[in-house]
Amino acid sequence: MIIDGKRIAAQVRAEVAAAAGELRARGVTPGLTVVRVGDDPASAIYVRGKRKACEEAGIHSVEHHLPATTGQKELMDLVARLNADRSVHGILVQLPLPDQIDEDPVLDAIDPLKDADGFHPFNVGCLWTGKPAPRACTPRGIMRLLDEARVDLKGKRALVVGRSNIVGKPMAAMLLERHATVTLAHSRTQDLAGEVGRADVVVAAIGKAEVVKGAWVKQGAVVIDVGMNRLPDGKLVGDVEFAEAAKRASAITPVPGGVGPMTIAMLLVNTVELARGAR
Ligand code: NDP
Repeated sequence: MIIDGKRIAAQVRAEVAAAAGELRARGVTPGLTVVRVGDDPASAIYVRGKRKACEEAGIHSVEHHLPATTGQKELMDLVARLNADRSVHGILVQLPLPDQIDEDPVLDAIDPLKDADGFHPFNVGCLWTGKPAPRACTPRGIMRLLDEARVDLKGKRALVVGRSNIVGKPMAAMLLERHATVTLAHSRTQDLAGEVGRADVVVAAIGKAEVVKGAWVKQGAVVIDVGMNRLPDGKLVGDVEFAEAAKRASAITPVPGGVGPMTIAMLLVNTVELARGAR
């Protein structure tokens, strides 16, 4: 089975539009503010996509685009103003930030109750202790894909390859919460092939083209590919060798059209939930 992230993301976006409509009927227009610093071309594309998705779902979106020369204090001051603005329910600071800015203090300054990305340490702590709070969008989207594909995680061996704060670690927490037996692999893992071969569910979030070989995948395993890698010929591929893996997997996500569309969809879900809980 190919897990159709585009279709499932469209469904999520329709659910968000309905929820946003209910909120508007109660006099609350959900609002997401995106802060972008500098002119990174990929960031410009991501932000445009996020804003378009907001508009389609009935979420009011505002962008603050600051020059590449912006200093730490200026950015922190903006975050403080957005924290205090009651019309702003979700705040997202688009990464990467220019070199002169230290990312962590900026992300830590966002009010955890407005943390649309779910990256704030308070919310990360909530995730690991099983409390409701905004959650990182990509792994949250993957959980929805697994649910839609009716993957039973209880007691299964789940392998997450990659341990970033935005994908790998929160992914491990979410799989653990659903009673999988979780292994986190990374660049120092000694026998990646062996780890993949033992896994019932593999989530690859590495950022290197086709590191996970199709022949490593256990017969009947579920394979989720987070990677988005551009080959020299322009082709977009994942972190998994798709064609070989698809022969062995019971379910697999394609690249593009798998995990990618879910990330933005879950950002919308987080924003509506923040608006619903706003004081
Ligand atoms: P990071 O670069 O932050 O993390 C990559 C992880 O992969 C690290 O933990 C690293 O290990 C590990 N790794 C690197 N090489 C190997 C290897 N050869 N074997 C095993 N592990 C390895 O990346 P992100 O988590 O931010 O993103 C990962 C990928 O997912 C990227 O391609 C990115 O574009 C994509 N992505 C896609 C999204 C979507 O919506 N589809 C959203 C977010 C990301 P170590 O910690 O030891 O360095």
